[in-house]
Amino acid sequence: MDPAIDDKPHLHDLAQQIKQWARELGFDEAGITDTSLHEQESHFLHWLEKGFHGEMDYMKSHGTKRSRPTDLIPGTLRVISARMDYMPHDMLHAEATLQNSDIAYISRYALGKDYHKLIRKRLAQLSERINNELDGYEYRAFTDSAPVLEKALAEKAGLGWIGKHSNLLNKQRGSYFFLGEIYTNLPLPVDKPAINHCGSCSACIDVCPTQAIIGPYQIDARRCISYLTIELKTSIPKEFRSAMGNRVYGCDDCQLVCPWNKFAQLTTEAGFLAREDLSDPDLLKLFEWTEDEFLKHTEGNAIRRIGYERWQRNIAVALGNCVPCDNIITALQTRREESTVMVQEHIDWALEKLKSAP
Ligand code: SF4
Repeated sequence: MDPAIDDKPHLHDLAQQIKQWARELGFDEAGITDTSLHEQESHFLHWLEKGFHGEMDYMKSHGTKRSRPTDLIPGTLRVISARMDYMPHDMLHAEATLQNSDIAYISRYALGKDYHKLIRKRLAQLSERINNELDGYEYRAFTDSAPVLEKALAEKAGLGWIGKHSNLLNKQRGSYFFLGEIYTNLPLPVDKPAINHCGSCSACIDVCPTQAIIGPYQIDARRCISYLTIELKTSIPKEFRSAMGNRVYGCDDCQLVCPWNKFAQLTTEAGFLAREDLSDPDLLKLFEWTEDEFLKHTEGNAIRRIGYERWQRNIAVALGNCVPCDNIITALQTRREESTVMVQEHIDWALEKLKSAP
């Protein structure tokens, strides 16, 4: 072991240095915590027991690895949690986009480059810098890439509190940011956990279009539009289709209404700026994309992960929620023949809805 490790002032300085390096690498903030997540583990297990995770079997397929960092990476003593703001300019007119049924609403985090690669690379650079300073310790970087209770760790590391909508909220910056973690066996001093400031507010619970926030801090993912449009591989239950409106990939409503997001800052990261072809695109144009065009337009973007079939399924629902017009009906009818059985069923729903509209 490096003799410097017993030197507490040195570790304190190193922790400050790590936070400074994180900022230099484009993170907006970093914090450090230990690996104990007892309370968060019981909340998570309760959520799984209720079946609120729906088809996300990966949430329960790793045993205790998700809630016990030492089970995932033996020897882990600390977690360095870092956050990076992603708010693009398009966030500023998100409500107007949601009101315009001819335009597709794409969750604002997914308008630019897929964040996974970008953040993992920066975390690797941060690990390398720490390693140059203090050799012989282990560092493993994750960003939504392994079973990690990332919001619980970030809350413990002082980066924000988990709001009633289950997203992490920062008092100075709102909730539009990505998280990444470095697991390490370096015994750094830990930060104070964040304090919850939701108070008596319930705006996110009240606004949710599908009532997915069934109580404070309790999300039934099976009702959540993000889950329905991104995670769900099968048919979208009919009871939620009208409420989806024009949301074709994810949903931001619970964050848009949150009063703390008046403090959110526009991103300075060029990779998170909206791509032109995904910035408030016309629904019909998106629906006309062939599979090759879909792959081309979503190259390096998170949307590509859901694949063409789910993309078409989601757009079919959004078209069903439009004001009826001949162009839309013709597009749905034309596309139907060459679509998969699942997409056809959603097209049929959309046609039925448009025809029965007053
Ligand atoms: S909308 Fe209100 S209750 Fe919901 S996370 Fe924000 S502050 Fe908390």
